[in-house]
Amino acid sequence: MAGSRTYRTKAIVLDKTKLKETDLILTLVAESGRQIRAVAKGARKPGGRLAARCELCCEVDLLLAHGRNLDVVSQADLIAAPLGASPSYELLTAGSAVAEVASRCTFEDADDPFVFPITSAVLEWIASVDSAHLDLLVAAYIFKLLSHVGYRPDYTGCVACGDEAPTYFSAQAGGVLCASCASNIAGAEELDPVTLSWLSALIALRFSELAAAQIDSFTASHLLALAHLWAATHLDCRLRALEFMLGC
Ligand SMILES: [Zn+2]
Repeated sequence: MAGSRTYRTKAIVLDKTKLKETDLILTLVAESGRQIRAVAKGARKPGGRLAARCELCCEVDLLLAHGRNLDVVSQADLIAAPLGASPSYELLTAGSAVAEVASRCTFEDADDPFVFPITSAVLEWIASVDSAHLDLLVAAYIFKLLSHVGYRPDYTGCVACGDEAPTYFSAQAGGVLCASCASNIAGAEELDPVTLSWLSALIALRFSELAAAQIDSFTASHLLALAHLWAATHLDCRLRALEFMLGC
C-alpha cells in the first residue's frame, strides 16, 4: 500500500553529507527523539527548493518515504531557522556543536521525547545571546542531555569518599572529588568555588535563567571545556565541532 510507505514528522537537521553530484544525506532528530538518516535528492542543485529548507539546525516538517537503507525526503517545509538566514561564524559553530552532541545521543531505533524539545529550545536561545552566554548555554545543553541519557555527574560530595567539600572535577571519576582522592586520579582538575557552583547550576537552571545570569567569558568558556571533557569521555568519541568551538 502506497500510504504505509510514507510518514510525516517534524525534525531538526543535525548534519548534512554530500552524496553523488546533487544529493545530500541528512541526519535528523525527529520529534519522537528518534534519529533519522534520509536522502534529499537534488538538494545540492543550484537554486534547488530543498537546499534552503535543509540547512543545519533548521526545524522542518518532512514527508519521508521508507527506503531499504536510508529513507527518502519527498517533501520538506521549513518551520523555523533558529540561527537566522545568515548566522555569524560564532553562532554557526555553536549550532554545529549542539547538533553534533544531539546526533551522538540519538539512535535510529529508539524514541526519546526529551531530545527534540531541549535541542529546539537551546538553538532558539543561542541565537539571542552574547559570546559568554553562548558558551554557557551550550555547556548547559551538554550536561543536561548527557545527564538524561545516563551520564549524570555527581556533585553531592566527593564521588570516591563522600567528603562534603570537594574541590576537584574529574570526568573519568564521574563528578567531583576531594583533594586527597583527586591526588590518585590522573587528570582531576582543581576548580574554584564559583566554577564548582556553576557546574550544578548548569543542570538545575533553565535556559531562560542561564541566558539572564551574570557570567564572565573566562568562566563560561571554562565550563564549556568541562562539558566537552564530560561528553568526550562518556560518549567515548571525538567531538570535532565542539573542539572547534573551544578552539582546541
Ligand atoms: Zn574524597
